[in-house]
Amino acid sequence: MRLSLLALCVSAALRVSASEVPDALALEKMAARFAPVDIRVDLAKLPENERTALARMVEAARILDALFLRQVSARNETWLLDLVADRSPLGQARLRFFRINGGPWSRIDHNAPFLPGVGPKPAAANFYPAGATREEVEAWMNSLPEAEQAAAKGFFTTIRRNPDGSFKAVPYSLEYQGEVQAVSELLAEAARLTTQPSLKRYLETRARALLSNDYFDSDMAWMELDASIEPTIGPYEVYEDEWFNFKAAFEAFIALRDDEFTKRLAKFGNELQYLEDRLPIDPRWRKPKLGALAPIRVVDVVIASGDGNRGVQTAAYNLPNDERVVAAKGSKRVMLKNHQEAKFEKALVPISRIALPLADQRLVGFDAFFTHILMHELMHGLGPQTIVVDGKPTTVRQMLKETNGALEEAKADISGLWALQQLMDKGVLDRREEKAMYVTFLASSFRTLRFGTNEAHGKGMALQVNYLLDQGGVRVNPDGTFVVDWAKIRAGVEGLSREIMTIQATGDYAKAKAMLEKMGGVRPEVQRVIDRLEGVPVDIAPRYVTAEELMRR
Ligand code: ZN
Repeated sequence: MRLSLLALCVSAALRVSASEVPDALALEKMAARFAPVDIRVDLAKLPENERTALARMVEAARILDALFLRQVSARNETWLLDLVADRSPLGQARLRFFRINGGPWSRIDHNAPFLPGVGPKPAAANFYPAGATREEVEAWMNSLPEAEQAAAKGFFTTIRRNPDGSFKAVPYSLEYQGEVQAVSELLAEAARLTTQPSLKRYLETRARALLSNDYFDSDMAWMELDASIEPTIGPYEVYEDEWFNFKAAFEAFIALRDDEFTKRLAKFGNELQYLEDRLPIDPRWRKPKLGALAPIRVVDVVIASGDGNRGVQTAAYNLPNDERVVAAKGSKRVMLKNHQEAKFEKALVPISRIALPLADQRLVGFDAFFTHILMHELMHGLGPQTIVVDGKPTTVRQMLKETNGALEEAKADISGLWALQQLMDKGVLDRREEKAMYVTFLASSFRTLRFGTNEAHGKGMALQVNYLLDQGGVRVNPDGTFVVDWAKIRAGVEGLSREIMTIQATGDYAKAKAMLEKMGGVRPEVQRVIDRLEGVPVDIAPRYVTAEELMRR
């Protein structure tokens, strides 16, 4: 699962006419929503052998760019070659936006085509036979005996036609033989170079998986990775298969572990029971003993490729997707710190200059931003989850149904602020960060709300901002900028944390629904700020400079 913290279809989308494709000027405007940014990572601490291993992984990652293009559309590679050959300004503008999107469809404009004659983006991508319908393929899959059906519906096969026109499942190891072989060899070489045992094991098992098409052992090894280099490479996410979400697209995130924030995370981990014991809810709903937490890694990306580098950039992801591995080992969350930092610089800082008064703008800081994101993730593990309603054991998710996502996201945000305040009061965190924490959160709320309230994060954020406005913890200045009221913010944060967690603890669906209906929309004073954000980039277009330097060695 991938977290971009943005809805895929963005309401900040430019109006793109369906009948005609954009000209060079329009394309530049569309591309300008992605601020170019150089991504550099400090390799100074890596010994020479690890650095060479890293270079092999980067090389492997780059192969997946072309492979992913072919997974999106059979015609993608031809279009790309034509664009590379076209030296006209229009051709170059098209090429640039094609690279951002991994094809000729603008992903944040509801996949509007921007090259002439390409037609709409195929929902089946290039995973199913050309000309086949969804119904035909589905009927065929369901007609198969159990084992064959599992293969046909599996992550790692395409569906093609036999010479007689009937369907067959083709393993990725065969379909993408050339690329998969090359990637496997590079990973095997990297495995020989590294002296870190858990990294060596992941690389070895993954190199084998690419050839055998059985990814189980390497997914297990990925869960056990504990090394200075944190690679994620292979077929993973299924979003590109809009027919069934069965087929995995190739991607890579080759990254280095971030030691500073990894330490901070460990420090927070030691305080979680302390926080649970003080949650602002009826004490009987607190858990006397928290269960083991899912592992979280904080990393800096050296290169992202394939499905991991198109459209809106990934901020964090949760893997693996194979339920057998999740049942045996759980899943791991990887937070891409330098991606988040680039988004912070290119989008959040400019937003703060519009949403906040001058005096507060200097309080907005990446450290406060990212620390709150980490605490948000941890707070998902605290508070009511398995509950008892009318004497029967159940879960918050089951009881709150479609309201659960927005409430749980709002809970993690607002109780994340509450938790950081607790740790400041306890002396675990520096008290001087207090104002930066609230003001940075306020600025980031506009970044989230900009993308509308159709999705859980947006709706949850609207609830928070509206609640704080009503409670007086946040005020609107006559010039339309937003400020924190230092006398009331703590009570507001604690009050909303209590209200949400109490709804969760009691599984009160009616109350949840009423709360979101009343408080889950964008109010006029907020909309007035959003209307002024038009020129602010929506996301980033990274250039992986350190990766390029590694390749030139
Ligand atoms: Zn969350």
